[in-house]
Order: sequence, then C-alpha cells, then structure tokens
Amino acid sequence: MQEEILKLIELQKIDLEVLKIEKSMQEIPQSLKKVQKEKDQLIQKLEDLNHLVEEKKKQKDLFEEELKQEYQRLKSTQSRLIHIRGTREYQLLLREIEEIKKTNKQKEEEILKLMEEIENLEKEKEKLEKEMEKTESLFQEEKQKFDSFCAKLSENKENLLKKREEVAKKIPSNLLRKYEALKQKKGGIGIAPVDNYVCEGCHMAIPPQLYNELQRDNRYYECPHCKRLIYYKKIYIQEDSNQEENKSSLKEASLS
Ligand SMILES: [Zn+2]
Repeated sequence: MQEEILKLIELQKIDLEVLKIEKSMQEIPQSLKKVQKEKDQLIQKLEDLNHLVEEKKKQKDLFEEELKQEYQRLKSTQSRLIHIRGTREYQLLLREIEEIKKTNKQKEEEILKLMEEIENLEKEKEKLEKEMEKTESLFQEEKQKFDSFCAKLSENKENLLKKREEVAKKIPSNLLRKYEALKQKKGGIGIAPVDNYVCEGCHMAIPPQLYNELQRDNRYYECPHCKRLIYYKKIYIQEDSNQEENKSSLKEASLS
C-alpha cells in the first residue's frame, strides 16, 4: 500500500463531501420555492388590483368633473328661461334642460356604479393583503430554515476544508497537482478505484495487463480511458457499509 495513494483517497473522499455540500446549498428546497411562487403570484395580483382601482378612480373623478360642469350648464340654461319671450324658443330650452337632466342622471348612476366597484375592489385588496401577510411570514419561516441549514453546511464545509489542508500537506506536490488538475477536468473525481477490471471513474474496463500490474501496487497508474489516477480497490478499500456509502457518492458525483 502506498501512503500517498491512501492520502489521495482520503482527499478525494473529502472533496466529494465538499462537492455534495456545495450542491445542497444551491438547491432551494421545494417548500421554499412553493411559497416564493405563491408570494410572487400575490404580488402580481395586488399590483393588477391596484392598477384597476386607480383606473376606476380616475374614471370616477373624470365623471364627477364632467357632472360639475353639466350642473353649471343646467343652472345657466335654467336662468335663461326667465328672459325668453317666444313659446317655441321656450319649448326648445325646456327640452334642452330635460336632456341635460337626463344625461346628468345617467352620469350620476355611472358614478354610483363606479363607487360600488371601487368599494368591492378595495375589499378584495384587503383580503389579498391579509393573505400576503400570511404568505410573507411563511416565506420568512421557510427562508430562515434554509438559511440555518446552509449555515450548518458551511460550517461542515469549513471543517472539511481544514481537514483537507492537513491531508494535502502529506501528499507530494507533483502528485497533488496532478490530482487537482484531473479533479477539475473530470467532474470532481481525480482518483478512482478499479474493481474487477472496471475503472469506477469512467465505468470502462481496463486492459488485463494493466489490471495485473495495478495489483502489484508499486507506482502510480492512470486509467487509459479517462486518464484518472487509479488504484486497485481491494488493496485500499475494505468492503463495509462505510465504503458502500463512499461508492455511491462517487457514483453520484461522476454522473453529474
Ligand atoms: Zn477510467
């Protein structure tokens, strides 16, 4: 067993754990996503509603202004009645007054209708705002949960990186550089075990001669397919549940 290979395996294990942590920190949980979406929808709804209320209010103001002018016109038309001598002229003016009154009544009704609409919209707005409050506090709750989860992960990562530094110190720098470069290029895996002819980095079979040599374990070897550093698994890794876990995380990382 070569000590530096052993250290590299340890380093690889740490690096995979760090990678896993980084991935978890980037994955926003479904529960948070869901409430975020609800919040966004509510914001949009409220915005639309506000817009609608503003429009109705503007319309109402306009009608009121028009009505004011029409009242004024009615007043002046009515005052002209006294000065009129001819019957026909008088009749015409009376008809005009009736027309103005009729239009004004319509406008008053429209204003009333608008007021009612605005009132209903305001009620709806109030309801949405209450809903928004609830959603916002739920959102904060979920966010806090995720934040503290991430804080814990960061702490774990920090500890792993400290441990990594210690392990890395014990590896010859040229070997370490090779591993780092491979890890960078090969999806986080720089060194992989070979078991039953198969490189677990790329899942391809290595030639029998190399497989035999690998078992002698007296130099550094690389996979002819993926170029990763390789080692004979049975020498370095005892099959137990712990290593099974390592294997599955290795698989997970190489798939991504
Ligand atoms: Zn390979």
